[in-house]
Amino acid sequence: MKKISKFIGLACVTITLAFTSIDNKIIVIDVSHGGHDSGICVDQLKEKEIALHIATKIKELNKNENVEIILTRESDKFLTLNERIENINKLKPDVVISLHVNSNENKNKNGMEIFVSDKNNQKEKSKELALNLFNSFDDHQVEVKNADYYLLKNVNYPIAIVELGYLTNGKDRQLLTSKIGQLQVVTSILKAIK
Ligand SMILES: [Zn+2]
Repeated sequence: MKKISKFIGLACVTITLAFTSIDNKIIVIDVSHGGHDSGICVDQLKEKEIALHIATKIKELNKNENVEIILTRESDKFLTLNERIENINKLKPDVVISLHVNSNENKNKNGMEIFVSDKNNQKEKSKELALNLFNSFDDHQVEVKNADYYLLKNVNYPIAIVELGYLTNGKDRQLLTSKIGQLQVVTSILKAIK
């Protein structure tokens, strides 16, 4: 009798493990810049703060219990590119989204840009991620581009860099800094990764 219950116990553990590994998705949000590296600064607005704010909201508003969201930084901390890559690869994520914002001398330049690389070793899945992001931001101007950035080439999992908009453009700035705009961005990203 003891033997049977032991066996059942083991079977239950195996089943639970099987289910968690099938259903649970790990999504890494790479929060760009940090510490002495503020990224783009326009007026009083800093890229490192906007990225952290939006990433924190993505984690907070995720209601899907099968999706675990992990941020590469949760405070104003600087990580080298290699530290970021090493931390991300250790997590073996299903997908990685690296958040940035842009600026341009031309104040009319606006819109979102999504970058993926053919040199990423899961390039097809990276393109799929880019397409999901593109579709979930359907009411914005979005371009998907190929770029061999160091991060995209060295993360071994599906990854896209998302430039969320231009802080130098009035409309984009409103989107990235207002509560309503940020909620739109966060909702769209959550829709793309569910
Ligand atoms: Zn950046």
